[in-house]
Amino acid sequence: MGKKIIVSNRLPIKIKQTASGLSYQTSEGGLATGLGSIYKEDGNLWLGWPGIVSEDEEEKASITKHLKTEQMRPVFLTEEEVKDFYEGFSNETLWPNFHYFSQYTVYDEKMWEAYQAVNQKFCSQLLELVEDDDVVWIHDYQLLLLPEYVRKHRPKISIGFFQHIPFPSYELFRLLPWRKELLMGMLGADLIGFHTYDDMRHFLSSVNRLAGIGYAQGKVELSSRNVLVDAFPMGIDYERYATVASHPETLEREVRYRTSIGDMRIILSIDRLDYSKGIPQRLKAFEMFLEKYPQYREEVSLIMVVVPSRDTVAKYQEIKEEVDELVGRINGKYSRMGWNPILYFYRSFPLTALSAFYRMAQVALVTPMRDGMNLVCKEYIASKLDKKGVLILSEMAGASKELSDAILINPNDINQLVDGLHQALQMPEEEQIKHMQVMQTSLKRYDIHNWVETFMNRLSEIKDEQRKLMTRLIDTEIESEINSQYQSAGTRLIFLDYDGTLSGFTPDPKAAGPDDELQKMMASLTSDKKNRIVIISGRDRDTLENWFASYPVDIICEHGVWLREHGKEWHLMEGVNNDWQPEILPVLKTYVDRTPGSFIEEKDYSLVWHYRKVETGLGELRTRELTSHMRYLVTNKNLQVMEGNKVIEIKNSIVDKGVAAAIWLKKYTADFIVALGDDWTDEDTFRAVNGNGITIKVGRTASEAKYCVEDVAQVRSLLKGFITGK
Ligand code: UDP
Repeated sequence: MGKKIIVSNRLPIKIKQTASGLSYQTSEGGLATGLGSIYKEDGNLWLGWPGIVSEDEEEKASITKHLKTEQMRPVFLTEEEVKDFYEGFSNETLWPNFHYFSQYTVYDEKMWEAYQAVNQKFCSQLLELVEDDDVVWIHDYQLLLLPEYVRKHRPKISIGFFQHIPFPSYELFRLLPWRKELLMGMLGADLIGFHTYDDMRHFLSSVNRLAGIGYAQGKVELSSRNVLVDAFPMGIDYERYATVASHPETLEREVRYRTSIGDMRIILSIDRLDYSKGIPQRLKAFEMFLEKYPQYREEVSLIMVVVPSRDTVAKYQEIKEEVDELVGRINGKYSRMGWNPILYFYRSFPLTALSAFYRMAQVALVTPMRDGMNLVCKEYIASKLDKKGVLILSEMAGASKELSDAILINPNDINQLVDGLHQALQMPEEEQIKHMQVMQTSLKRYDIHNWVETFMNRLSEIKDEQRKLMTRLIDTEIESEINSQYQSAGTRLIFLDYDGTLSGFTPDPKAAGPDDELQKMMASLTSDKKNRIVIISGRDRDTLENWFASYPVDIICEHGVWLREHGKEWHLMEGVNNDWQPEILPVLKTYVDRTPGSFIEEKDYSLVWHYRKVETGLGELRTRELTSHMRYLVTNKNLQVMEGNKVIEIKNSIVDKGVAAAIWLKKYTADFIVALGDDWTDEDTFRAVNGNGITIKVGRTASEAKYCVEDVAQVRSLLKGFITGK
């Protein structure tokens, strides 16, 4: 096991120029704390930008030296890189698009170039640190290309990627001119994590539609490996917030604040300044609340903390002005002597001050228009030691998926917000405690430490799975070894799949059949008396008979329904029947009626629904409907519903290529046994043959086969070697 390296845009440290030189302050944020269990361990590291632009080599060296003592490594960015990569592409292109504010998205080729260049810069520095058995965990939207860049140079390492902001729906994401490059960048990882299931589903849909890559059970099937995509809702450092909430400094602050504002009931709002946070909408709702429920005037105040952020970006300056104006207007309109409806702070506070606010607030109003997770709402809950208080939470925050005991609102529905406030302020204490208890129990369990551990465990699981399924590509050395085994064998048993193995993959039931080259090869292979050649295919009996009748071959067709040894009669696999077809066929036809481009292939003992010509997405949707419909229909009928490459096949459950191959293996022992196939139905053959002979998969996807070859051409080259002895 190698070392672990965390990579993020920012290092968890603040560096400041002071009169006496540089000062360093390590971050105590939740993520830094959670990841502390990783990067602070001996030998591990955190790589990122130290947050300071420096052109002075001496200063850089001194920063590097200090960071080393903290197990950190810096990637220095120039002023221009900060502008175009960070403020530009990251915050003016990706951020708005990913938060569903596509009208604010800037499409600028120069920023895109800077984004690529900085991701490359991170890559080069990472390559100096990383070794083959290391685990790298890359964070967030600033580094979407990094996983692929690193993978290119270090194909074997474990790479995890976590995105802390939402992943937008395909309709939004596809607006980006660089969408495919971004997806491929992320797919360099072995595990891709998002906060919510929705983000994960959006990502998978974009991968499928924009990159044309399929997925099953959350795994994206690349030719070289499977990439696991999963949801990991990030937790907070629960213990820390619970502890700070009873710290003397917090209590002292609370007393101080209370003395100055009196026994006013408090509604709390805390965010970084960002259009995604819905601050103006929240202010408007509060204004409407005061209008609709005048009894709360001089009764409640809204403490609004807005933390300055990205103030170099024009859009953020605009929002700031809008918020200032709204606060001014509302306070101007409703203030009385000794009471301000809004206590507005445009700055950040230390943790004990935040904690005092959390303690004081009867209501936390967390209403972002869109938020990857939102930590403020979780911190509020953890700080409520007496369990009294109500959380009003936007459905558009990732946290809402876990916190269903909050009052959930749609931030675009101002009436819902107003009534939510009313409901929260009226909620009886027992009810507040009941909901708070549920949310606290959950947040305590799924805290930041649990999040880090779960992510790392999943990463090592997927890596293990990849390794287990890793097939070895046949190179010239292995090819000649297999060939010499073939040549020296007295008897040979050779299983050959047809489509995608002997011939290019055409799912067309009316395909042309073996070409000249293949015909010649079949003639040579079958004329050798030492060989027993078995064509093992999903195709129907008539087609295979038609194509191979002139050679002394055995044929297994319809994935093992019909079996024929050369010179003998066709034989039906025992127990197979087709009396179910009249019942299933009409159902399949209703799917053809509803799905333009799909069609049914009727085989003797199976039925196949093809959808490769159906609109992307619709075919997959129908597949899910059809599969679950069929699974219900086939209960107790001894049938199986198999999902293949753009097909769904229904047939008897006792049949598969492996069962058929086992009959041959039992009957014909041979000195040399080999099986070649390309798709998931051949996996059954491989399982049957493994232990008895050599298994070879066409294509590099995960397989039970021991070896793999790139393509049909390599299969033919291997077979030619058998024939010629070279
Ligand atoms: N925060 C802070 N100082 C403040 C106000 C807020 O450190 O004065 C912290 C807050 O405690 C929370 C974070 O800023 O941990 C905001 O995280 P969140 O996920 O809610 O929003 P983000 O800013 O990441 O979009």
